Amino acid sequence: MAAEPTRVLLLGGTGEALALARALEAEPGLDTVYSVAGATRNPRLPALATRRGGFGGAAGLADYLCRHGIACLVDATHPFAAGISANAATAARTAGIPLLAVQRPGWTPGPGEHWHRVPDTAAAARALGDEPRRVLLAIGRQEVPAFCTAPQHTYLIRCVEPPERAPPCAEHLLQRGPLRYADERALLRERAIETLVTKDAGGAATRGKLDAARDCGVAVVMVGRPPSPAAAAHTAATPAEALDWLRRLQDRDDR
Ligand code: NAP
Repeated sequence: MAAEPTRVLLLGGTGEALALARALEAEPGLDTVYSVAGATRNPRLPALATRRGGFGGAAGLADYLCRHGIACLVDATHPFAAGISANAATAARTAGIPLLAVQRPGWTPGPGEHWHRVPDTAAAARALGDEPRRVLLAIGRQEVPAFCTAPQHTYLIRCVEPPERAPPCAEHLLQRGPLRYADERALLRERAIETLVTKDAGGAATRGKLDAARDCGVAVVMVGRPPSPAAAAHTAATPAEALDWLRRLQDRDDR
């Protein structure tokens, strides 16, 4: 008799999560549900079973894991999504199942790159200084209101969907990654951007803006990652590593 597939819950919302999910579409031994927060109206979804919306905290997630017979939880959420990652660690422990965290490394400056690193977006707003500047805000939409404390600057705000509140002198540029170096460079030049504010998201898909900032002489304010909520016992730096790990788990389950 064929073995039951291993049930996996994949917490997504990132390019890596989507890449892993697409690879899992063709894995017969793994039965994966892809989960997104539901904050974006048109999230990119794989051809897997999907669900949208919160679970109701760590307890709700643990309950979901148990009710759906999930054998492994994969946290491939964004490095700045600290709440869901903390919940994932607690819920996996409660349910007694392994947790795999897909964690892309942060960015490191290359030759000619000098970034002003700050711990959070409030500090990023202060780091822009008193003199009015033309700023590209590439931090997503949730933390844009932090820049209302620095209304002297002119902002070009890039996000997938517009923020709820923004500084007075702001224009929105609705765009989704990946974004190419040449386009990033053209944007910085055309808009005469002086400072780029970005989160230390890591990964290749959105690094083009940093390369372009270096080549255009644009200052970079880099918002650091929130503290890691819990050191997951199992980590993968890429979707390919995560897939290998899941295959090994499934082999073990089959024995
Ligand atoms: P967060 O603060 O850690 O999460 C807030 C709440 O949203 C969580 O407590 C959870 O609700 C729900 N949630 C988050 N991710 C979920 C998922 N994959 N499936 C189901 N529920 C989820 O995270 P966030 O910063 O708001 O980010 C939300 C989503 O956007 C994440 O999935 C993340 O991967 C993606 N994202 C975030 C950023 C960023 O810069 N923060 C950038 C790109 C993409 P309950 O407590 O009710 O379960």
